[in-house]
Amino acid sequence: MTDRLVRMLEPILRDVATCAELALRVQDGYRPSAPPGVPVDDDWLMVWTPDSAGTGIALRGGEDELEQLADVFDQVHEVAVEGRGNAGLSTSWPPCPAHPERRPLSVALRGTQTLWACPVDGQVHCEVGQLAC
Ligand SMILES: [Zn+2]
Repeated sequence: MTDRLVRMLEPILRDVATCAELALRVQDGYRPSAPPGVPVDDDWLMVWTPDSAGTGIALRGGEDELEQLADVFDQVHEVAVEGRGNAGLSTSWPPCPAHPERRPLSVALRGTQTLWACPVDGQVHCEVGQLAC
């Protein structure tokens, strides 16, 4: 069941691997307990940061596949930001070219695209999975 989730995560994991200076590890089949509010048999997996903090990434948010995708991207984004903070790196990731020290880019769903966009002015930076650094 989590094969689909693993595939869904590929673009954002690529961005993290390319640009976040953080080695996240995805672990499927780890089932000590589900994340809060998620039934144990639901679709979820663990993402580990280098400092051994594990976070459950769950497929949730209704039946709209694009909303689900944006939601799991959000969840991984949060893990990456926390992992960077724990590693002593800037938590303003991915940095917005216009506001590098202020607010990081965030995942935005526009039409059928999941994008990295500026939360301050709405400026689209690139598609999730296409981050350059
Ligand atoms: Zn900005």
